[in-house]
Amino acid sequence: MIFNKSESMTSPVSLQAYNTFHIDASAGRLEMIVETSRLKDIIAGGQPFHIIGGGSNILLTDDIPGLVLVNRLRGYEMVDKTPDHITVRVASGERWHDFVLWSLSMGYGGLENLSLIPGTVGAAPIQNIGAYGVEVKDIIVAVHALDMETGEEVTLRAEECRFGYRDSIFKREAKGQYFIIAVDFRLTLRNHRIVDDYWAIKEWLAAHHISAPDIRDISKAVIQIRSSKLPDPEVLGNAGSFFKNVEVDKEKMKALGLRFPEIKAFEMPNGNFKIPTGWLIDQCGWKGRRIGEAGCHKDQALVLVNHGKASGREILRLAKAIQADVEERFGLMIEPEVNIWP
Ligand code: FAD
Ligand code: NAP
Repeated sequence: MIFNKSESMTSPVSLQAYNTFHIDASAGRLEMIVETSRLKDIIAGGQPFHIIGGGSNILLTDDIPGLVLVNRLRGYEMVDKTPDHITVRVASGERWHDFVLWSLSMGYGGLENLSLIPGTVGAAPIQNIGAYGVEVKDIIVAVHALDMETGEEVTLRAEECRFGYRDSIFKREAKGQYFIIAVDFRLTLRNHRIVDDYWAIKEWLAAHHISAPDIRDISKAVIQIRSSKLPDPEVLGNAGSFFKNVEVDKEKMKALGLRFPEIKAFEMPNGNFKIPTGWLIDQCGWKGRRIGEAGCHKDQALVLVNHGKASGREILRLAKAIQADVEERFGLMIEPEVNIWP
């Protein structure tokens, strides 16, 4: 579908095609946003709304009686260039993976490890998307947004976004405060930083006899690994990892290690330890299990799936059962990464 101007659909509109869990909830009204001027009018009107980009990080547990805006703001612009770097401003409604492919086609480095992540550019800063050892905060220079209260355009420098592990100001203090309209990314023109620490990437490179990978090799590796491991939301509804990994301090890690000698963990730059939640869920016997139409994926315990007609509440019930089991067995609280609506 191509939208040349902001188009509106009125009551009630199914959101099934707008969320990758394919939950059949509805919105009172839905509007495609293709220009910021329309957005400013809506904000000035004072009507509350929800924002959807690609719908790949939301779980709809009920209908949304009000207005839902679907972001389709488009465009790329070069804002700065030095011999080593280029800064590109990308409209928030652009598809993330299209941006990654475009940057690789131009020979720009920085995004290759983040290949094939669904969703839009504007949602990337919200949870500081990350994969295979790279987080988007590493390449974001600034986020441009409309303040929902004042309708003013504001620019937040990367430091002001308070990026953390799958976290940012947009999920906390500034939750619901901004509509992100564009993001500035600083990409490398030469001397690219190759990040190939993850075992799956190392293995792929070795299998393809590549000892000095370039940015395109890394992207290719990530695309192939992801395609082989992750369920395609077009085939099996899901929103990627449902829960975040758990972070514990050194002392707690030691205690856990004594109780569960086989526990997996990675030391983080801040000295804490990251425990893969997928492993915890697997240990509780949830991998591949289902409750009705809601399931825990057979290969990726962290990914909850809709086997067909699950409601958002069914998925949430499954998530809560998993949380309770992990807490009972390991004494650890696992937090959803997915945004639960309303
Ligand atoms: P949506 O789901 O539409 O929105 C997510 C949240 O952001 C909502 O609260 C929404 O209101 C808000 N939002 C969206 N756009 C804006 C905007 N312009 N302004 C203000 N608020 C906004 N995530 C990772 O970090 N790493 C991965 O490797 C990864 N892999 C995935 C694999 C699969 C198969 C799937 C289905 C998901 C994966 N995800 C991953 C999660 C998801 O793709 C990302 O979080 C992505 O950034 C979400 O983008 P979206 O446009 O779909 O956001
Ligand atoms: P994996 O490679 O099987 O690794 C399992 C977990 O261990 C991951 O959560 C990862 O943490 C951690 N890990 C592995 N190697 C590590 C290393 N060298 N240093 C630090 N941590 C390490 O994971 P996977 O499930 O196949 O996913 C691969 C990558 O894609 C991961 O980075 C993951 O975050 C990302 N991904 C994210 C989503 C999502 O929706 N958020 C969905 C699918 C995949 P991290 O998660 O911190 O990297």
